[in-house]
Amino acid sequence: MNMTGRFFRINLTTREITKETISEEMIRRYLLGSGYAAYLYHQEMDPMIGALDPNNALYVFNGLLSGYTAPTGCRSSWCGRSPLSGIWNEANMGGHFGGELRKTGWDGFVATGRAEKPVYLYIQDDQIEVRSAEHLWGKDTFETYDQLINETDPKARAAVIGPAGENQVLFAAVVQGGSTHSRAAGRGGMGAVMGSKNLKGVVVRGTSKPDVFDTSGFRSYVKETNKTIQAASKGLSAYGTAGGVEGAEAVGDLPIRNWAAGSWEDGATAIAGQTMQEKYPVKQAFCFACPIGCGKQVTTENEDGTLFKREAPEYETLAGFGGLLEIDDIDTVIAANDYCNRMGLDTMSTSTVAAFAYEAYQNGLISTEAVGGYDLTWGNKEALPPLLDRITYRSGAGAYLADGVRLAAEFLGHDSEKYAIHVKGLELANHDPRAINSMAVGYATANRGGCHLETLSYWTIYGLKPPWSTVEIKNRFEPENAAQQAVDFQNYFSAYNPLGLCKFISKSRLSAEDIAEYVALLTGWEFSGEEYTLIGERLFNLKRLINQKLGVNRKDDTLPPRILTEARPDGMSAGKLPDLPLLLNTYYEIRGWDSEGVPLQETLSRLSLEL
Ligand code: SF4
Repeated sequence: MNMTGRFFRINLTTREITKETISEEMIRRYLLGSGYAAYLYHQEMDPMIGALDPNNALYVFNGLLSGYTAPTGCRSSWCGRSPLSGIWNEANMGGHFGGELRKTGWDGFVATGRAEKPVYLYIQDDQIEVRSAEHLWGKDTFETYDQLINETDPKARAAVIGPAGENQVLFAAVVQGGSTHSRAAGRGGMGAVMGSKNLKGVVVRGTSKPDVFDTSGFRSYVKETNKTIQAASKGLSAYGTAGGVEGAEAVGDLPIRNWAAGSWEDGATAIAGQTMQEKYPVKQAFCFACPIGCGKQVTTENEDGTLFKREAPEYETLAGFGGLLEIDDIDTVIAANDYCNRMGLDTMSTSTVAAFAYEAYQNGLISTEAVGGYDLTWGNKEALPPLLDRITYRSGAGAYLADGVRLAAEFLGHDSEKYAIHVKGLELANHDPRAINSMAVGYATANRGGCHLETLSYWTIYGLKPPWSTVEIKNRFEPENAAQQAVDFQNYFSAYNPLGLCKFISKSRLSAEDIAEYVALLTGWEFSGEEYTLIGERLFNLKRLINQKLGVNRKDDTLPPRILTEARPDGMSAGKLPDLPLLLNTYYEIRGWDSEGVPLQETLSRLSLEL
């Protein structure tokens, strides 16, 4: 079977479109999705070109398995230089956009330039059109989505930005699915990159059926593995990730009061997914080809008694607007989640920025006036909506909060960097590095900054026994085997985005060999688990090379000061701090990097990365 890929480049300034192919050899080396995007960016990058510069490129690629029926083969990667961190970023989008993009016959596109006036792209099979979006500018993502579907094709899918992206809030998201199934390429500000290009959205509509090398083998393998995945995902199917809030609090993994507190039992129960389902009707939502359906839509009541259906918050959002701010009111968190989806804001960065603002306010660095007359004390739910509005529209304190906690702390000074919780400029995800050493070194070395998804080893706290890890951890608070566990997880998960798979399927203990089998049946390649893992390692190192060109070295492989110096005062992770220098030394050695975190020549040559 011919596995050649194809993508197009569009210059939004000149509207020039060029088409390119991707050889089978390159696909086998980097896969697609964020893997091929990283390869292209590494070849083309100029460190002098900032993320919001018109000459900067936005890379959007489907994974190799996106749009096929492989479980959760739905994802597209939105990649390039992050305006928030200034380094490599890949934001991964679920939902139905990737499935439809596959049917157009394109694997992706690269957008450069800046349209003179707002536009959207309409990709209809082989045809690519640039259409005016002037009538959509200023509208939220739900309205924009509905209108784009109305004016193109009822079967089309769209990924769009809201006012946050237009205003270049540095953690603006790209959102697909509208009000019924919002799924975002959330992290790192790719919505701001689109805003900087005057690109309001991308609509896709395709009619082709993608080929599979071994159609019946692929179908029966998918059927068989879907059963395994479903059997292992009952909790996730029932409650989504929101079902994990109470467990995270119990083991000392949930961040509380901007990472300064240690326990919050009643609060965690008040905002948990289980509580949400006791209070309101909740319906399951599925991304394309997903056998799990962790998505949830919740129907709440408006003040006037009318019913309102919207996307339910997931764990990260509950932990952020709930735990970080100590807001124990599920309705406030549901509303904040809905607001972020509408405006196109990453809930993880937004809630961390809000927590930073609450603490800076309490330390006298932000005035009441700058946040609309509200009192930002922990737990004050009234203050949150106006604060979010200020961030979206960059008004009052929002003018600098919209740049993320790193720059906001630089702006405010007075030691506020001590409670600005980020790694390399990306706000930390809501799993505590103090709760398990492998996550501490995983966060410190993650290629996009404060990202939990590159490592995910905290899953072992909750009982996961990963077949892809070569070590066992006897004590999660100790460094023994932690660096090796982080490396094993990072290598295994590095190929997920390039394949277009959702990482939740791995909870059913799919090994590298199991994943490789999808690729073998799709392509006809003799493709082993070993080759799969080697590609993961290659891609992790490739992104390290990109980041090095952007100035990253050992000094940046660190954790926020609060995480390194202030232990949780109580709860199951009380009194524990990671010994990061020790963890990093072991980690670099395992990776084949020098003591400054630079990959050695022999490592690059083993990984065929002498580019
Ligand atoms: S598990 Fe959840 S996020 Fe992942 S593909 Fe399925 S519905 Fe989407």
